[in-house]
Amino acid sequence: MRALGIDIGGTMIKTAIVDENGVISEKKLYPTQRKLREQLVQIVREELAASNPEAIGIGTAGRVDPLTGEVNLATDNLTGWTGVPLKSFIQEETAVVTAVLNDANAAALGEWFSNHRRTETLVMLTVGTGLGGGVVINGFPLLGKRGEAAEFGHVVIHPGGRRCNCGKAGCAEQYVSMRLIHRLVAEVAGRELDRATLVEQYLGGDPIVGKAVDTVAGDLAIVIDSIFLSFDPETVVVGGGICELGDRFLLSLREKLVAPSQSSLYAPEDVVLSLSRNDSGIIGAAIFAMKNARTQLRPTRRGRKRDYPAPG
Ligand SMILES: [Zn+2]
Repeated sequence: MRALGIDIGGTMIKTAIVDENGVISEKKLYPTQRKLREQLVQIVREELAASNPEAIGIGTAGRVDPLTGEVNLATDNLTGWTGVPLKSFIQEETAVVTAVLNDANAAALGEWFSNHRRTETLVMLTVGTGLGGGVVINGFPLLGKRGEAAEFGHVVIHPGGRRCNCGKAGCAEQYVSMRLIHRLVAEVAGRELDRATLVEQYLGGDPIVGKAVDTVAGDLAIVIDSIFLSFDPETVVVGGGICELGDRFLLSLREKLVAPSQSSLYAPEDVVLSLSRNDSGIIGAAIFAMKNARTQLRPTRRGRKRDYPAPG
């Protein structure tokens, strides 16, 4: 079985064909357009004609209803996306089994499937423009009742702090993001650095960039400590654009976790960087869709067999 995996973000849409082992091919990138519905239909039609996948898996920014696949709540990053019945509308347009979940939940499932299949509980944080989260328990993404499980980005970590686009103040996303690292550097250096320069300067030991990353790592450690105490996962994976800062960043993050972990049973080494990087969302969405499609195709099967192929 093969599925079309789609990862919808505020700036880019990523697609690829994914097989049952999570191997991807025919990867494509599209800038997100304002008329997203129409754009999505066109992309899906072209992909179906070219590759004929048996299922469609969509990971999208926003909170996705676990039962209906409708976008219950999306921020301004995707204008007009709140209330879109994504699953039913793509399924009706294409007559192909479609599954929809939040993009960070998809990334967590993809990361688990590709790199951590022996892990019982995995939590992933995606640190990019914002802060997303996903929890995978025994191979299932935790979706919650309303589709807002693992929305760690909107947990308040500094009450009365910076205003968030969700309407609250002090949300983790306002303290843990690549956007904030760029802003902190610009405030001191007096100019904006592009992503590549910022990464290069960080790896070269630049003190201004180092201090900005250190500040964000400190707040990320607060979020991670509360995640260990909420879910007791074997592993917390950090993904998203921040991974470009590499092992130097990981070591500094682990250092921040030394003190809080001494009051707990987890170890700073239980935090790792994503290995699938930009592909984890596409892989997770496609794997989720194939799993749903198998269930729908064989609804009366008695006794549950393995839902996933054995770990490689
Ligand atoms: Zn918020």
